[in-house]
Amino acid sequence: MYCCVECKDEHDKLLHLFECGQEPLHESVALTVKMILTALTLTGSIQNLQRILNDSKCQTVFDLDLSKPQDESHKLNILLAINALTTVRETEHTKSVSLEEMFEKHPFDLFLKTDVEREFMRSFTNKQLKILDTNLYDMKEHSYLKSSNRTHGHSIGSGLCVFASLFSHSCDPSVKRITVDNKIAFVVVQPIQANEQIFVSYGYSSYEMPREIRQLHLESYGFLCDCVACQKHYPLLSKQPRRISYYNEPNHNAMTALAAICELKKACKFIENIYDRHPCYETTDMMIYCDHLLHQISKLPLEEYALSKAKKH
Ligand SMILES: [Zn+2]
Ligand SMILES: [Zn+2]
Repeated sequence: MYCCVECKDEHDKLLHLFECGQEPLHESVALTVKMILTALTLTGSIQNLQRILNDSKCQTVFDLDLSKPQDESHKLNILLAINALTTVRETEHTKSVSLEEMFEKHPFDLFLKTDVEREFMRSFTNKQLKILDTNLYDMKEHSYLKSSNRTHGHSIGSGLCVFASLFSHSCDPSVKRITVDNKIAFVVVQPIQANEQIFVSYGYSSYEMPREIRQLHLESYGFLCDCVACQKHYPLLSKQPRRISYYNEPNHNAMTALAAICELKKACKFIENIYDRHPCYETTDMMIYCDHLLHQISKLPLEEYALSKAKKH
């Protein structure tokens, strides 16, 4: 995990000296090893870990109290919450990881002594791999490419978020995800009614990708998407009707984060006002503009954002 692209590049260069030509560990494999070692450190032994997982009544993160990070039990609760996440996705890469090979090497050779222990660790490791493959959120730092008129994201790491993993997908999502100051944040971009379910996009939006292609991608998550955009066959942006004659195309220039916050509020108000005509060219175009603004905002540290809000009150 890095704070910025520069840090990652610098680190990559250093690693390149030592690792060039070697097969890299897939990110979720490296994270799985980290998770296993953390779980063993927290519980003290394989037997304890096995017992604690077996005794856990936790079915979702809401069965646990995660409000007291200073408590001894907090990390253990996180472990249980992670192990309660859904695992619907088995990718080619999950299947290809050779656990036998991994368990013979350091540090696993230190504590895997019996066949029973190896068997438990095999299923535990498989589960962690699947949890990560299903639930990891890619964290991106965005830069604005003027020529292509699109923002471009560099991955700076991944986040496993026990609450955020509960969001379901929609091809026309009500919240958007950004990385701000090393944290994953969700921002509302469409009006949400009381008691209405909140949806995030797993990366496949109806305005830029045809329905069949989206369904194909989403199949690997184990469901057939029946979001409103899929049910009502929302058209691609290029085919969406224009509903407003006085529409001013937003200007996709780079701007300061504080200016972007101001613009975002205006954009959301605009969407809210003509939302009964959604999906149309204007609402969709404004939502794309919101994306652009969120990427500008994401360069602002969260404390600074809080300060800017405090000043206004
Ligand atoms: Zn850094
Ligand atoms: Zn859909």
